[in-house]
Amino acid sequence: MRAVLLPGDRKVEVVERATPEPGPGQVLVRTRASAICRSDMGLYVGNSTIVGGDAAGSGLVVPGHEPAGDIVELGPGVTGLSVGDRVAGYLPFGCGRCEYCTAGYLMLCPQWQCLGFDVDGGDADYHVLPAANALLLPDEVSFAAGALMTDMVGSQFHTQRVLGVRGGKSVAVFGLGPMGAAAVLVARAFGARVVAVDLLPERLELASRLGADVLVNSSSDNPVESIRDVTSGRGVDVAVDCSGAPPAQNAALDAAAKLGAVAFVGESRSTEINPSDQIIRKLLTVTGGWYFPLHEWSEIARLVVELDLPVEELVTHRFPIEDAEKAFGMFDRRETEKAVFTWDDPAT
Ligand SMILES: [Zn+2]
Ligand SMILES: [Zn+2]
Repeated sequence: MRAVLLPGDRKVEVVERATPEPGPGQVLVRTRASAICRSDMGLYVGNSTIVGGDAAGSGLVVPGHEPAGDIVELGPGVTGLSVGDRVAGYLPFGCGRCEYCTAGYLMLCPQWQCLGFDVDGGDADYHVLPAANALLLPDEVSFAAGALMTDMVGSQFHTQRVLGVRGGKSVAVFGLGPMGAAAVLVARAFGARVVAVDLLPERLELASRLGADVLVNSSSDNPVESIRDVTSGRGVDVAVDCSGAPPAQNAALDAAAKLGAVAFVGESRSTEINPSDQIIRKLLTVTGGWYFPLHEWSEIARLVVELDLPVEELVTHRFPIEDAEKAFGMFDRRETEKAVFTWDDPAT
């Protein structure tokens, strides 16, 4: 089979590898879609510090932590799944026994491994998943949409649910890259009023197509003032930062109403805030948003199907796997938003 490797220094190789065998409790998936994510850029550049252990830096692990495809083989002992089932890959592999795994939060397991960082991922004709990580895709959901639902849509579903986003609430989304666009989609699906904030007109345009009620171009307008203007001076109930940029993180804290909530979703290593003014004396709830517990998948899938959410609108570019070098290069240079490898002619 063909597989992508990222040896570092922005090199991309498409190599020939043996098709993996599913071990006990695993399934072999023929890949039909596999999305590129900003977190892949650490592998691409060769300094993956946010996700992954030693293996992630070896350049020998196949990337791709947002895959979808159809099951072509069951390993020994797998029950409840069949050859032909359409699935998306749930990225954290856990021990299955600790307090976090049993609660469904496999990414918090002390022994967790990440698909596409620690173990071979979906940027290949085939990939292997533990049966527990094979999330069933409803027939109405395309493989490309399924791939995006695992990371962006699932992360936003969980984070916004935790913060009580629903009809009658207002939500501001800072940073409208793929994760922010998914935040707009989910907030609207939950029935909230959405203010979308970014510097780039084309991103604001996408947010508008996804249903954002108010658009704020933060290159020309002060986002905190603009948000106060459209919320009777009160601020939003929930602010979600998807940018990871200190000015937006601060604006999110300032734009949240008293008793409101803020989620930090965009990865970030340091930022300077004023806890007294921005959090304590507003009795703000501040949380981190990162992926979703396994048991929420069926609700995520149901939301997408029943509201017919246009998840594929988030995809701006599609590439065949042999164009991986071009795909990663364009993604790195921000010439694409969400880019997805797709298999129009699946491997046989
Ligand atoms: Zn991702
Ligand atoms: Zn565990």
